[in-house]
Amino acid sequence: MKIAILSRSKLIHSTRRLIEAADERGHEVEVVDHLKCAMMMETGAPTVFFDGRTLDHFDAVIPRIGASVTFYGCALVRQFEMMNVFTTSPSQGILRSRDKLRSIQILSREGCAVPKTAFARHTVDVNELIKYVGGAPLVVKLVEGTQGLGVVLCETKKAAKSVIEAFYALDANILVQEFIEEAKGTDIRAFIVDGEVVGAMERRGPEGEFRSNLHRGGTARAVELDDEMRTTAIKAAAAMGLAVAGVDMLPSKRGPLIMEVNSSPGLEGIERATGVDIAGRIIQYIERNAKSNKPRDIIGY
Ligand code: ADP
Ligand code: MG
Repeated sequence: MKIAILSRSKLIHSTRRLIEAADERGHEVEVVDHLKCAMMMETGAPTVFFDGRTLDHFDAVIPRIGASVTFYGCALVRQFEMMNVFTTSPSQGILRSRDKLRSIQILSREGCAVPKTAFARHTVDVNELIKYVGGAPLVVKLVEGTQGLGVVLCETKKAAKSVIEAFYALDANILVQEFIEEAKGTDIRAFIVDGEVVGAMERRGPEGEFRSNLHRGGTARAVELDDEMRTTAIKAAAAMGLAVAGVDMLPSKRGPLIMEVNSSPGLEGIERATGVDIAGRIIQYIERNAKSNKPRDIIGY
């Protein structure tokens, strides 16, 4: 099969692993820099240009779109969808996952367990907002933050008020969320491929840090999920419309709570922790689905 990995560089670890996994299974694989692609629309003939040629030969694409280029990257994935090329991550799912507000609205309505979260403009009384989520300590989050940047723990009501007001003064979109203290700086990342958990790890922030992101110096170890965790993760990925996803959950007194669903989850940490060939699982998912050639439903783009 002919597979394109939409990625800025071959040197990125996850991209390299996907190339290896596709090579091992005898597929032709090419890394296509999504920022160097142009899209062309005319009546009935959507096309993609890259490096002086038309990309009309791919059976599947694997989007690895960075958060800073979500708009352009998703436009390109959508263009491939319009050309009936199979994608491991639909543009719609990527867009949803990049907006913490949109994600939690969907997850909450689909009945996925989430921390109590409020969103409002500065025109709403800050004291009320703090009360909605159960008071301090609480977490304030930028709607479009990643890698733990833009997530602030406010230990007192006073601190919460000034942080919220400061973000409002900057015109930033923020979520105010109950702090899940009993998670103690850990969370669980479940890696989903094709609606199944293929690996899971517990991440733990360094001493004194409530954020468990590996980018913030967190460490990881493999864990076996219980049934509740497994079904929670699978349900969240499905609600977001993502077949490949990294679902992050906070262990809480009321069971696992979904914190976020990542559409381009890194492979390095999870493969190292679990020893599972997750890149290979993604390629197998393509093998099972790409060549069906049936016109895909384009409602809901
Ligand atoms: P990012 O997209 O930047 O990773 P997250 O919402 O995943 O943002 O938050 C980063 C980290 O902060 C999480 O992995 C978790 O360890 C911690 N965290 C986030 N929200 C909460 C919360 N409500 N209660 C406790 N810890 C949280
Ligand atoms: Mg996160």
